[in-house]
Amino acid sequence: MNEKIWLSSPHMSGNEQSYVKEAFDTNWVAPLGPNVNNFENDLKSYLKEDCHVAALASGTSALHLSLILLGVSHGDEVICQSKTFSASANPIVYQGATPVFVDSERDTWNMCPIQLEIAIKDRIEKGNKPKAIIAVHLYGMPYKVTEINDIASKYNIPVVEDSAESLGSTYKGKNCGTFGEFSILSFNGNKIITTSGGGALVSKTLENKQKAVFLATQARDNAPHYLHSQIGYNYRMSNIVAGIGRGQMTILDSHVAKRRSNHEFYVNSFKENDKITFLKEPEGYFSNRWLSCILLDSESTREGLRLALEKENIESRPLWKPMHQQPVFKDSPSYLNGVSDELFEKGLCLPSGSNLTDAELDRVVSAINTYFVTC
Ligand SMILES: *Cc1c(COP(=O)(O)O)cnc(C)c1O
Repeated sequence: MNEKIWLSSPHMSGNEQSYVKEAFDTNWVAPLGPNVNNFENDLKSYLKEDCHVAALASGTSALHLSLILLGVSHGDEVICQSKTFSASANPIVYQGATPVFVDSERDTWNMCPIQLEIAIKDRIEKGNKPKAIIAVHLYGMPYKVTEINDIASKYNIPVVEDSAESLGSTYKGKNCGTFGEFSILSFNGNKIITTSGGGALVSKTLENKQKAVFLATQARDNAPHYLHSQIGYNYRMSNIVAGIGRGQMTILDSHVAKRRSNHEFYVNSFKENDKITFLKEPEGYFSNRWLSCILLDSESTREGLRLALEKENIESRPLWKPMHQQPVFKDSPSYLNGVSDELFEKGLCLPSGSNLTDAELDRVVSAINTYFVTC
């Protein structure tokens, strides 16, 4: 059996262990310490915009805190892009609120501004104005930032930017992770950089960062004894994990370059194949190409190809199944145009890691070519 080729696996720089060792040597084995502060500063300088970064245990916890800080609570509604990973929507339910799903458009596969406005108007008419909008830069492709922000400000609803898959992507020259009232990053094992598990909340104000850190460290009031006037969470990133993050920051740009070159390689390899199409970058959009995705001509071609790759020990995965199709969200309102359903039927994510070798990429391409010769 050929060795397994993964969709997206961790890729260390070699610098991580020295930061982790430093944490051990200085006994900062805690959810605070120099690595946490320095990792936050590294992220802040990378993002460039005026923003404040809190390193947390996961992207999901960052989303949860952003909703808490926006005052989302029981009985509220929060709009969420339907085509996303479930972690974008779950924190809405943690708050006792209801997700309202909005479909995608074809240029970026992300939240459709037209459906968004239809949804907002309809929810307001029904007497429950949405408390927030969670928009996602899926697979690293920025959403239509200007259009979404314009609608959000027209109705005065804050945007939570889910940038879990898009660190290193830019829109009109500015970094993804800086466009929301709050933005979130993820450093889970499969993301463009990883701390094994981790995330960050990016806030526009220092005050909000401080509130997030307060809530993330059990909401301990200032007193010599343990004193609590609010419910807290254990959501802070540990100083060990932040050391991995500092090492990863040194190679983030090269990981982006490699993922983009993987994508280029697939585009060039399949340009003669009229059954395979790719999502192009619109003018002004720069995707980190976290995952290289293809669209096939039908669901049966997509499934046939996925199984053929599996036989060759190559991991691939259908594009994320939209939230409005998930059994757990079957009762949530949704505003649909058919785009995310079609993308789910026809789309496949190919191996995309920054550690893929030329030989592995060749194996993927030849397995796909063989499938199309024999199918
Ligand atoms: C990975 C991911 C998250 C969650 O991040 P974790 O760090 O795994 O909690 C949220 N949204 C999207 C779109 C993701 O891909």
